[in-house]
Amino acid sequence: MKEDIELFNIIANELLINEIEHPVADYIDVNELNQAADLSLSEEPVDKETFLAVVKDLVLKTPKTSSKMFFNQLYGGRKSKAVLGDLLAVMLNNSMYTYKVAGVQVGVEKEIINQVCGILGLDKSKSGGTMASGGSMCNLMAMIMARDAFDKKVKDTGNVGKMIVYTSEESHYSITKNAAFTGIGRDNVRYVEVDQEGRMIPNALEQQIQKDLKNGFAPFFVNATAGTTVLGVFDPIAEINEICKKHHLWLHVDGAYCGGVIFSKNYSRLIEGVQKADSFSFNAHKMLNTPLTCSIIIVKNNDHLHNSFSNDADYLYQTGADDYDLGKISLQCGRRNDALKLWTLWKFVGTKGLADIVEKQFYLADVARDYVRKNQDYTLYSFDNSLSICFNYKNIPAKHLCTLLYEKAEIMVGFGSFKGVEFVRLITINSENSAEDILNFFKKMEQFAEQHKALLLAPSAEITKSVI
Ligand SMILES: *Cc1c(COP(=O)(O)O)cnc(C)c1O
Repeated sequence: MKEDIELFNIIANELLINEIEHPVADYIDVNELNQAADLSLSEEPVDKETFLAVVKDLVLKTPKTSSKMFFNQLYGGRKSKAVLGDLLAVMLNNSMYTYKVAGVQVGVEKEIINQVCGILGLDKSKSGGTMASGGSMCNLMAMIMARDAFDKKVKDTGNVGKMIVYTSEESHYSITKNAAFTGIGRDNVRYVEVDQEGRMIPNALEQQIQKDLKNGFAPFFVNATAGTTVLGVFDPIAEINEICKKHHLWLHVDGAYCGGVIFSKNYSRLIEGVQKADSFSFNAHKMLNTPLTCSIIIVKNNDHLHNSFSNDADYLYQTGADDYDLGKISLQCGRRNDALKLWTLWKFVGTKGLADIVEKQFYLADVARDYVRKNQDYTLYSFDNSLSICFNYKNIPAKHLCTLLYEKAEIMVGFGSFKGVEFVRLITINSENSAEDILNFFKKMEQFAEQHKALLLAPSAEITKSVI
């Protein structure tokens, strides 16, 4: 192992230098993948030198999500104390299902859950939570708990009847997938209309529920989003909660992208009412800048986690130690230790430090919006209090611009659309960036646009490669 830790150091150090010199990896066409890197596996072993050379080459050719030119996704950057925790979790290799196997690491995860419940102001004797392998899986767990709470028999009979899910047009696609997984069915997802800023309209929700009730359907679950995937806006949770309470529906708040605002006294107002939800999830690998994946789901009443995810019929007779066998409340059997990386970061910077991360992200977003607003070559499509800055530059089609920036290995940035308009979507999630880095993004993009003007304004056929 010692030898490989040395190899790790060699490769990691080169990567750190390479990220500065070449913040975007060279573009590799999928059809040329096998020529671009030695990916082959064969019967015969390789010698150590070849091994190091091949692995290093592979690492350096991989898209760089922690560099200063990565704005493509709802995650980015590298918090070193969190990376340290994750590396140690790999070394330790515990599965989080039992206290016997994970020991103090169970305590690490429980401390995180407990702290988050405290920040939300939940009753600590009743509330709880767990970690799942992503925000989509947290959403799945929420839908399963809501389904089982609505109809106790479903788990056994598999008959979900005419159960209906409500979510906004702008919500994450996992809601639809999860409706398929849970037996609810994609056709039983109602996409509630959003306002001009992309937030669910409570009145539209109320009307849709009324209509479904009249037609003999069974509403049971509402998903509100804290940080929509495209515009990064927050559904009005408090108002949606009122409607849920009136109709006895489960309210889940999908905070995968921006649920991390709970850590900031200045921005937690954006998620006001979240403590009234039945479940709430957030990705620390997005707003808290930990490595992937680090997803937490909190439930107001922990019994729901036991009810849906423990296979023991005799759960009611649990002993105290049962609470430390986390496998009883998780989706999977073997489970990675995703808690340690958040814990090492949190331990080192404190809750105040987590707030600083969030506030820095909003500050960088303000810098970006301000730049776009003050420059007449730009049109802004997103709003204040969002980490997604959506814009168009001159009359260049967003998709062309993003595709060419990627293919020429200049900047990784994505595009999105809202109400039929396509735009560039810049994400200021990397809290390690400075205001200067954000301004540098614009400068670089403008220079690039000038340099490739002809190609960027050419018909779409000229840019052949497809990108996400
Ligand atoms: C990213 C995201 C998800 C999915 O989270 P994963 O960890 O990628 O599965 C769900 N909902 C929203 C709003 C997101 O932004």
